[in-house]
Amino acid sequence: AVAAVADIGLIGLAVMGQNLILNMNDNGFTVCAYNRTVSKVDHFLANEAKGTNIVGAHSIEEFCKKLKRPRKVMMLVKAGQAVDDFIDQVLPFLEKGDIIIDGGNSHFPDTIRRTKELEAKGFLFVGCGVSGGEEGARYGPSMMPGGSKDAWPHVKPIFQAIAAKVDGEPCCDWVGETGAGHYVKMVHNGIEYGDMQMICEAYHILKEALGLTADELGDIFTEWNQGELDSYLIEITRDILKFKDTDGSPLVEHIKDTAGQKGTGKWTVVSALDNGMPVTLIGEAVFARCLSAIKDERVRASSILSGPNAKFTGDKKQFIHDVSKALYASKIISYAQGFMLMREAAKENGWHLNNAGIALMWRGGCIIRSVFLGDIKTAYTKNPELENLLFDPFFTKAVTEATQGWRNVVSQGALLGVPTPAMSSALAFFDGYRHAVLPANLLQAQRDYFGAHTYQRLDNESWVHTNWTGRG
Ligand code: NAP
Repeated sequence: AVAAVADIGLIGLAVMGQNLILNMNDNGFTVCAYNRTVSKVDHFLANEAKGTNIVGAHSIEEFCKKLKRPRKVMMLVKAGQAVDDFIDQVLPFLEKGDIIIDGGNSHFPDTIRRTKELEAKGFLFVGCGVSGGEEGARYGPSMMPGGSKDAWPHVKPIFQAIAAKVDGEPCCDWVGETGAGHYVKMVHNGIEYGDMQMICEAYHILKEALGLTADELGDIFTEWNQGELDSYLIEITRDILKFKDTDGSPLVEHIKDTAGQKGTGKWTVVSALDNGMPVTLIGEAVFARCLSAIKDERVRASSILSGPNAKFTGDKKQFIHDVSKALYASKIISYAQGFMLMREAAKENGWHLNNAGIALMWRGGCIIRSVFLGDIKTAYTKNPELENLLFDPFFTKAVTEATQGWRNVVSQGALLGVPTPAMSSALAFFDGYRHAVLPANLLQAQRDYFGAHTYQRLDNESWVHTNWTGRG
């Protein structure tokens, strides 16, 4: 008979799975490894896992038999069909109350469906977003688990042990019901798109307006990383700008300007549209990647369409400071929009999201980790019912103080012809959001004019239609 020796089983021996297993092993858990291509199990045990307590299995049946009860089967496989296939394969060897965990980048509707299907059969399912790439998986990722709440006490000790820590607190907590974990991971990725785009805009406008070299830009990012912008993405940007090619020139200048994407940013924006939430900054970040990708067409456009010849004439030092403020304010808007979206999705799906916990999970271990997320956590800890991040006194003050520099950068961008889609759409959102009255009165009139859609009167709230043309 096969002995049940493992605390958890992990399927999927690509980079993420291997690193999570090694991380669990470091933390004293016994892990059983399995992979579709079974030869990889032996290779892993003989190499990366040599000298550890990690065990392996050569069939799904053997794998399941090696797990202590309630069995915990975690998958780190390609999102999509592979997850459903493995669920089908393990189910015959599991019992009611056993737990299946999907740690891949699954789309949240799949996770909602899988949770419901498995719960109906008496099993528990956890969809867990894992962020931080290979390095995070190995030494401490950010983990965002959601799904069957009854599974949490069983997986909590393992997840919180292997997760990143900030001030001793693990960057892993229960997110919410069904697909909430994968949803929050998706929004995390969308926010990552936004953060990266804003940084690229700061780089672009500083380079074009002030004519700075990569080295000089690297110095600016070094300084920014010591203040309110302190974050992983600013830190790696500093290193990238300083990195030299073999000929001593900055490597960044030899890289083709066409961005790729795997789809999680797009999913966030699609969900924003589905939920009617103005998540404009992430939207612009996704579209900026799309625009970058049509390089050949842009090259043709560059010889046909001209822009202003204006040169920057202001105070350079002040402008660098203004760009840091534009970046900071845009970032506040992006996170405010992200939390607005999560609030709406939670309402739609019946999730009870813990906003402070989400900020804490993003505070360390993942790509968007930053000091800033500590401030968001503080805001939501102080007031869990906070309607909008911008209403928290710290952020109200921060965004207000940043507006002058922010407006200056966006207008300089327009005058000099340097695109700042994320920063300027964030400012447009801010100005729209703080207007009690917007011009949608005229819009409603237009809709009523051509489509008899009716409009609501301000004085008595009644819905009426007007015959705008006097024709019968
Ligand atoms: P991956 O390249 O996404 O997937 C490879 C693994 O999936 C292998 O174990 C492979 O088995 C298995 N697999 C692929 N298609 C399969 C199928 N049809 N049936 C059964 N198994 C199949 O690996 P990864 O980069 O380690 O990522 C794992 C998951 O974590 C993915 O969902 C990914 O999106 C997510 N993730 C990745 C990162 C990252 O930085 N890489 C970060 C966060 C999350 P074989 O060996 O047999 O081919």
